[in-house]
Amino acid sequence: MKFNMLGSGGVVPPPRPGCNCKVCKEAREKGIPYYRTGTCLYNYEAKLLFDVPEEIRQQLNRENINEVRNVILTHWHPDHTLGLRILEQLNFDFVNQKPFNELINVFISHFQLEMFKKLSCGSFLDFYEKQRGIIRIKIFKGYDILDFGSVKVEPVLIEHTKGFYFIITDNRGRKLVYAPCEYKNLKVHENCKNADIFIAHHLFFEDKSIGNPNIDWSNEEDSFEQMLQHAKEMNAKKIIITHIEEMFGLNHDELNKTVKEKCPDFNIEFGYDGMIIEV
Ligand SMILES: [Zn+2]
Ligand SMILES: [Zn+2]
Repeated sequence: MKFNMLGSGGVVPPPRPGCNCKVCKEAREKGIPYYRTGTCLYNYEAKLLFDVPEEIRQQLNRENINEVRNVILTHWHPDHTLGLRILEQLNFDFVNQKPFNELINVFISHFQLEMFKKLSCGSFLDFYEKQRGIIRIKIFKGYDILDFGSVKVEPVLIEHTKGFYFIITDNRGRKLVYAPCEYKNLKVHENCKNADIFIAHHLFFEDKSIGNPNIDWSNEEDSFEQMLQHAKEMNAKKIIITHIEEMFGLNHDELNKTVKEKCPDFNIEFGYDGMIIEV
């Protein structure tokens, strides 16, 4: 399987407009890998996007990705969904007033769709499905198997947040586990065992010698150290970090150097925009 980490940034990716800290300045001056955009992962075989941050148009153009047939929304939060208007640009022919191609499948859970409509711009989806006729909404539940031919995706419900993480497999038995957000009280499903790659949310460090010592998000998420235990339970061969925040105050090289020093038992790397991941 081949993946592209279109966006490796979190809710506030560096550079943050108006911020002149060293991480933001460097990101502005040097670009990728220091410059990050919102969390997004693309799978080439299934022509599948996980989430659509607001920079999705630039992300697809930057990586020369021409086709999107499927979209999975991991949850409704704005940093994961505000690029949905891309569906119109991808599949509506404004000259002839009809779709360019077959409908794009948009997968979301019932609860997340309700929240998306209640608290954000989820009614876009109805407009695109019923009036523009460019998408098909597909509701999934935890443990459904979403079948994309050679690639299968199993969403696993995270009870505490009602978000999901995903076990992605192919017919050669390769396995990637994707847990980009809503990572709290995560339980490792037995189907995660022997994951080739575990892509995990950039969680806060319990070890306060790493990065900004004032960050403690334990009410909302598990810690980096707990994530390492999950990787151990999965027997994951490699960990790649995504959803990386500006406020930790560390640049791409510092993040990688720190985890190498602090977690010598793990094969772990911070992701970056445009990172190609082959499993
Ligand atoms: Zn900054
Ligand atoms: Zn998020």
